[in-house]
Amino acid sequence: MHWKARMLKAALVFRRDRDAGRPEALAILRELAAADPTNKQVPFAIRKIERPCPRCGDTGFCSRCLGRGIRRTLGLERKCEACYGRGICPACGVL
Ligand SMILES: [Zn+2]
Ligand SMILES: [Zn+2]
Repeated sequence: MHWKARMLKAALVFRRDRDAGRPEALAILRELAAADPTNKQVPFAIRKIERPCPRCGDTGFCSRCLGRGIRRTLGLERKCEACYGRGICPACGVL
């Protein structure tokens, strides 16, 4: 299987259930890292998910906008600058 497909598989497993999926996702990523030590994206992904994320309480959602991607300030809705409007935690949510 192509390494990108394996990365996606790891992401899927991790997103479905962080607690249960983390060891499986990490196992996939570590295999990929061993198979191709020159691929920098794999260790980057491992660092993102290898332990519960303190920034979002390991929910995967942006804690500033509570995952909505927008924030309300003085009655105006603005794109959340912490997550660039995506609603996902910038530290761990973009595997
Ligand atoms: Zn996070
Ligand atoms: Zn946000």
